[in-house]
Amino acid sequence: MLKTVASFDRIGEENAFAVLARATTLAAAGRDIINLGIGQPDFRTPDHIVEAAVKALRDGHHGYTPATGILPLREAVAADIHKRLSVEVDPDLVLIVPGGKVTMFMAILMFGEPGAEILYPDPGFPIYRSMIEFTGARPVPVPIREENDFAFSAEETLALITPRTRLLILNSPANPTGGVTPKEEIDKLVAGLARHPDVAVMSDEIYGQMTYDGLEHRTLLAYPDIRDRLILLDGWSKTYAMTGWRMGYSVWPRKLHDYARKLAVNSYSCVNAAAQFAGLAALEGPQDAVADMVAEFDRRRSVVVEGLNGLPGISCRTPKGAFYAFPNIKETGWQAKPLASALLEDAGVATIGGPDFGVHGEGYIRVSYANSTENIRRAINSMGEFLTAKA
Ligand code: PLP
Repeated sequence: MLKTVASFDRIGEENAFAVLARATTLAAAGRDIINLGIGQPDFRTPDHIVEAAVKALRDGHHGYTPATGILPLREAVAADIHKRLSVEVDPDLVLIVPGGKVTMFMAILMFGEPGAEILYPDPGFPIYRSMIEFTGARPVPVPIREENDFAFSAEETLALITPRTRLLILNSPANPTGGVTPKEEIDKLVAGLARHPDVAVMSDEIYGQMTYDGLEHRTLLAYPDIRDRLILLDGWSKTYAMTGWRMGYSVWPRKLHDYARKLAVNSYSCVNAAAQFAGLAALEGPQDAVADMVAEFDRRRSVVVEGLNGLPGISCRTPKGAFYAFPNIKETGWQAKPLASALLEDAGVATIGGPDFGVHGEGYIRVSYANSTENIRRAINSMGEFLTAKA
């Protein structure tokens, strides 16, 4: 009998992948399935980015790169952060990683162990909790509440910190709710963290360029007082429609950067060289494609919110960021996961049940608007017919 370590029995996964697999199976069997379960932009990577990767391959960039990523790319990340967010970042503290997920993996490994506590948003990206449990640390959910417009509450978050707390995970704009935590609340949170100098912060800002209604993204990098314990998670996946390229970056305090670099050396060596050149072209090239994509998401956001609010038993706040709506389904009389499953099987619409994002996700489903307006309208119609027939 093989004897693997017990922590592997605790590792979780993302149900979104299972939903995607089921949706694909149903579609392959001839069913008309509209996928609003997806967590990736439905756009192609802009051509100039693809061309840069092709050129890098033709130019012979076929070997290893430094584990931290090629210097021009780390410099471009620092320049991009400076341009967008007016914050100085030392390129030596940037780490190029194979997808944003790898940053959370490393950060949680650095702080999680039995006896430690890690705070994470609930509902939130499911991998946070999975990884925390993997390390043996205690996952402490920070409730993200609809009545608070799905923003972090500084007061509630700070109240959960104990002497065992090692790491606080933040995410704004957020998956799965589309919530954006306002600047004033982040100010309060950071002010409160001064009383807890041993707590590190990982700020997942992968949707940082996807905010609406003129709302500005507030980065945690903007607070000098916590820079020596802040890990910034960002990347190319969502901003440039590059989920399959596996390109992310992080910014670390110096000592942690060295730990992270060693984790890279011990596992994947470096990120795919050609993909790094694509990432460079993305940052240095025209940004119109990003603006166009966000404008298109914004238009669909209105269609989704208006459509969902017209359905029996469903009410939906207007999300302020990312490309997800998180409607409240409590008045339908359904539990969230059975509803998501019935919507897929009977109405042909894939969504994700809120409990897949944590215990505070009960009563909600995640509806992604990374699909065409036409498909969104058709999906809302099917959902309406289904809910009316079952009422
Ligand atoms: N963080 C959040 C909040 C996400 O929603 C995702 C992807 O869905 C990631 C990180 C991971 O991004 P990547 O595909 O770059 O690993």
